[in-house]
Amino acid sequence: GHSIRPLVAGNWKMNGLKGSLAEAVGVRDALAGPLASISADVMIAPPATLIAPLAEISAGSRLAVAAQDCHAKASGAHTGDVAAEMLKDAGAAAVILGHSERRADHGETNAEVKAKAAAAHRAGLIAIVCIGETQGERAAGATLKVVSRQLKNSLPEGATAANTVVAYEPVWAIGTGLTPTPADVEQVHAAIRRDLSEVTGAEGANIRILYGGSVKPDNATELMAIPNVNGALVGGASLKASDFLAILRAYE
Ligand code: PEP
Repeated sequence: GHSIRPLVAGNWKMNGLKGSLAEAVGVRDALAGPLASISADVMIAPPATLIAPLAEISAGSRLAVAAQDCHAKASGAHTGDVAAEMLKDAGAAAVILGHSERRADHGETNAEVKAKAAAAHRAGLIAIVCIGETQGERAAGATLKVVSRQLKNSLPEGATAANTVVAYEPVWAIGTGLTPTPADVEQVHAAIRRDLSEVTGAEGANIRILYGGSVKPDNATELMAIPNVNGALVGGASLKASDFLAILRAYE
């Protein structure tokens, strides 16, 4: 419904200058004033090394910090991994899980994404669970089936509007400049809404469903106006503060 507060999250991925604290300070400063007039929650998911410093310099502001992944366990012999509890302690409010790049680069399965989302909840983090079809799956007419299966198999027990966000990101739209038509976005988001209600009951009506995949300043207003689109997950266009701000203005 329209009472859902939107969320716009920028995913910096592993991008060069975004790994520097100076860059993070610049973004924080560029957003600080304008955010006051934006009627949406706003997050940045920086590289892991910047979670704590960005959280520290953004404390008390409207800018929240998200991680890009977490381990399912709270601690243990898992060299190179970071627990959800550690991300929470570092100041993160949320964690992106099951991004298509992690599913591709690290072979993450729905079951693993589900375990990580449960870990996020255990730690008090919002789980931003990413799902989306490949180009081949869309061409085969399998989009709704694929997205439904990913959603149902990636969502943990106890998912609520407060602890869970779904991001619909067609894999072929990520970083390509391509987007589905508004009608296609509307159809998939409506199907996700139905599945969410089936799986989570009354909470399903209020869980935010973000659209992600080549959201840019020139298409953000149109995409964000689509029914059941409750915000955006933004990759490339979040790397420049002026572009990210222009997208946020869809909620001015
Ligand atoms: C993403 O990776 O989550 C994403 C949406 O990327 P882009 O905006 O660059 O397509």
